[in-house]
Amino acid sequence: MSNRTELDKLGEFGLIDHITKDFKNTQESTVYGIGDDCAVIDAGDKYTLITTDMLVEGVHFNLMYAPLKHLGYKAVVVNLSDIYAMNGDANQITVSIAMSNRFSVEAIDELYSGIRTACELYNVDLIGGDTTSSQSGLVISITAIGEVKKDEIVYRKGAKENDLIVVSGNLGAAYMGLQVLEREKEVYKENPEMQPEMEGVDYVLERQLKPEARKDIIHFLKDMSILPSSMIDVSDGLASELIHLSKASGLGMTIYDEKLPIDQETFNVARDFNLTPATCALNGGEDYELLFTMSQDYFEKLKGNQHFAIIGHVTDENCTVNIVEKNGTIQELKAQGFTHFNEGEN
Ligand code: ADP
Ligand code: MG
Repeated sequence: MSNRTELDKLGEFGLIDHITKDFKNTQESTVYGIGDDCAVIDAGDKYTLITTDMLVEGVHFNLMYAPLKHLGYKAVVVNLSDIYAMNGDANQITVSIAMSNRFSVEAIDELYSGIRTACELYNVDLIGGDTTSSQSGLVISITAIGEVKKDEIVYRKGAKENDLIVVSGNLGAAYMGLQVLEREKEVYKENPEMQPEMEGVDYVLERQLKPEARKDIIHFLKDMSILPSSMIDVSDGLASELIHLSKASGLGMTIYDEKLPIDQETFNVARDFNLTPATCALNGGEDYELLFTMSQDYFEKLKGNQHFAIIGHVTDENCTVNIVEKNGTIQELKAQGFTHFNEGEN
């Protein structure tokens, strides 16, 4: 009899639960450990926020179409996004890389020029890391460190019944960018002489290759004196993140298809690929927008603001996340992100 359990049986979240279930926090300074966008540590006056993310060649990026400079930039941004998702500000990063001798010094310089650009733009210091060789592809692991005032921290939990559900920017563009890149890769493989068809897709490509973290949104909210009741960043797709907020808060959510913010170019590209734009917005992922809930008292402050879309509201303790379609039918949302162990994607 064999005792082997395949990884895809558990899935990413099942595996994290499985490996962490026997660990107990004992340090007084550990305010919050596993389960949110960042770990939270008591630092006296404030909380320190820590988050880490790893990008693996062939799983998270493909060097056939992701320029190294952009990759370095994106690797930083995806970590900072988790700090902003706690309503915090990012201060430092560490960067660890593993690479094979397929990479030249010039290639690593390119990667680091992207990392440097992100450090300058988001005002974070590179304070350490680790460098090692790899037998296969490139691996980049970044840790970001930030801080937040104790009374301003926002967790995934904390949503209240009747709160409004709000998302920044727009959704689905990065996913459409990925579809365009995959298409062009296939065309290139078939015929390297073919010119890539890149007209009218600049925005979706930029959202895929060089995303931004929404530090600006955290500042807008502060300026308007809006404190969200719960928040998460959209990395795996809106549907998956709504389910996280819903589970963490023990409440259900209802969103409206017609309220989903979708950019016109994203809409057009989705249609070119015979995809439903709303499905791309719900399940695409890598948007790095902020999804939060807030009291209805803030409605007047946010109403009409172009940076935000109010997409629904928090319901009761049944914990289901529903979407109301344009024709009025109601469907329960199921997460479709995180397929790491069965498709080698995401
Ligand atoms: P995010 O999508 O915001 O980056 P993840 O889904 O990667 O968050 O992780 C969920 C939670 O599980 C986080 O709190 C993270 O720190 C924790 N986690 C992930 N992998 C591990 C691991 N191998 N060991 C311990 N904790 C982990
Ligand atoms: Mg996150």
